Amino acid sequence: MTKLLDLLSEVVGTQYVLTGGEINPDYTHDECLDLDPQVPIAVVLPADTTEVSDILRIAAELQVPVVARGSATGLSGASRPNPNGIVVSFERMQKILEIDTDNHVAVVQPGVSLEQLDFALAGHGLVYPVSPGQLSASLGGNVGTNAGGMRAVRYGVTRNHVLGLEIVLAGGQVLRTGGKLAKTSTGYDLTQLIVGSEGTLALVTEIIVRLQPRPSDAATVLIPFPSLEHITAAVPATVGSGLNPTILEYIDVVSMAAITTSSGLELGISPEVKEKALAYLIVVIEQNSPERLQQDIEHLADLVEDRGALDVYVLPPKAAEELITARENTFYVAKALGADDIVDVVVPRANIASFLHQVSKVAAEHSAIVVGCGHAGDGNVHLAVFQPDHEVRHKVMIDIFRTGMTLGGSISGEHGLGTAKYEYFLELEDPAKIGLMNRIKLAFDPSGILGTGVGVGTAGQIEGKEDSR
Ligand SMILES: Cc1cc2nc3c(=O)[nH]c(=O)nc-3n(C[C@H](O)[C@H](O)[C@H](O)COP(=O)(O)OP(=O)(O)OC[C@H]3O[C@@H](n4cnc5c(N)ncnc54)[C@H](O)[C@@H]3O)c2cc1C
Repeated sequence: MTKLLDLLSEVVGTQYVLTGGEINPDYTHDECLDLDPQVPIAVVLPADTTEVSDILRIAAELQVPVVARGSATGLSGASRPNPNGIVVSFERMQKILEIDTDNHVAVVQPGVSLEQLDFALAGHGLVYPVSPGQLSASLGGNVGTNAGGMRAVRYGVTRNHVLGLEIVLAGGQVLRTGGKLAKTSTGYDLTQLIVGSEGTLALVTEIIVRLQPRPSDAATVLIPFPSLEHITAAVPATVGSGLNPTILEYIDVVSMAAITTSSGLELGISPEVKEKALAYLIVVIEQNSPERLQQDIEHLADLVEDRGALDVYVLPPKAAEELITARENTFYVAKALGADDIVDVVVPRANIASFLHQVSKVAAEHSAIVVGCGHAGDGNVHLAVFQPDHEVRHKVMIDIFRTGMTLGGSISGEHGLGTAKYEYFLELEDPAKIGLMNRIKLAFDPSGILGTGVGVGTAGQIEGKEDSR
C-alpha cells in the first residue's frame, strides 16, 4: 500500500492523494438508496490525461481496483468506492476546452458539470440538451451512465450527443474515438461502447458533444387526467402529432401530492378537477416565436381534450419552473419519506399503463407501497419502493423487473446497473448476452481493475458466468 501511495503521489502530488481522515464522507457513496458507504484506500485527483494514464498504469501493475467518480449523483452505486481500491475523481478536470460554433460541438473535460456547460453555451444561443435531473452531474458521469432525463423525448439521451471521446485504458494507453463528425462508418463504434459502460471499460478524459440551437420561447402545460390509461393514450398521440414536445412527463396522484406539499407549490388546479384527477401529464413545448408557441399550445389542448383531459393549465413561468424543479427532485422527496429503493424500468411507451397495472398487483402481493412518476414520452418509469424487509423487497424488485422485461422493456432506462441493480441483471438477462459483455470487458480491461468490483466483466463475475454456462 505504501508503494501504491508513493507512486500515485509522484504522479499527481501528495496533496492530491487523499487517504484516511482526508477522505471526505462524500467520496464514500453516490445517491443510491440501497447501499452502505465504503471508504477507498485513496482518492486520487488527476489534473490531466497524462496523470490519468500514469495512475492507470500504476493501478494495473499493482492490480489495484479503480472506480471513476464524477459528481457522484448516480442512483445505482456505480461510483461507490471499492474498499480495496482507489477512486479517481475528475473534479480537477473541469475545463470547457472549446465551443465550436461552426461545427456545433463543445469539447469538454469529464469533470465539467451540466450547469457549467449550460452557462457557457447560453451566450452562443446554443444548448447541450441532455438534462438529467441533477445539473451538478458531470459530463464524464453522464457518459458513464448514458444519462437521459426529461428532454430525451425530443433530443434523445447522452449517446445521441457524444460524437467522440479521449479515453485511457486500464494499462494507461490513451486513445481517441470519433471526432467532431456528423457521421462515421469506420469500424466498430468504440465511442458508443464506452457510453453507458459505467467506468468499467476505460476512463474518459475528453468528450466531444453535439450542440443544438437554444429555443427562444417555451410553455409548460399541466394536464390532469382521470386515469393512467388516459395518459397512455394521450402520450403516443402527442408524440405523433408533430408538436415535438421537449418534456412529456407523467406524475401519479400520490407523487403529485407529495411534491406539491413538500415544495409548497400552488398550481391553481380547481378542487373539482383535483378530486377527479388520478394522474398528471406535464408537457413543455419550445418554439422560436410566441405565435408558433401559441399555435402549438392550442393544438395540444385540442388533442388532449379529445383524449379525456380534465383541464389544461398553461402555467405562469415561476410556477412552471418550480414544478419542473419539484419533478426533478421527486427522488429526494421519496428519500425523505423513507423509500427503500428506486426503479427506473423502461418499457415501450404504449405499455406504461399495462406495466403500472401489473406493478400495483406485485406491490399488493408483497405488502409494498410502490408509487412514481416518469419520462412518459420515453416509457421510462421511475418508481419509489417502500418495503423495509430486504428479502421481500428483493422479490418485489425481481417481479417488477421481470414484468417490465416481459413487456419488451429493460431493467434500467437511464440510471444504469451500478452495484445496486447488477444482481437483478445477472438473474434476469440472457446469459449469452452477459457472456459477450464479459468478453468485451476482458478485451478492454484484461485484469478487471476498472469498476466497483461488482458489474459486467469484473474478474469474479467473468469466472462465475463462465462456470455457470
Ligand atoms: C435528484 C436526482 C435526479 C436525477 N435525475 C436523473 C434523470 O432524470 N436522468 C438520468 O439519467 N439520471 C438522473 N439522475 C442520476 C445522475 O444524475 C446521473 O446518473 C448522472 O449521469 C451521474 O453523473 P455524475 O457526474 O454524478 O456521475 P457519478 O455518479 O460520479 O458516476 C456515474 C458513473 O459514471 C462513471 N464515471 C464518472 N466519470 C467518469 C469518467 N471520467 N470516465 C469513465 N467513467 C466515469 C462512474 O464510475 C459511474 O460508473 C438523477 C440523480 C438525482 C440525485
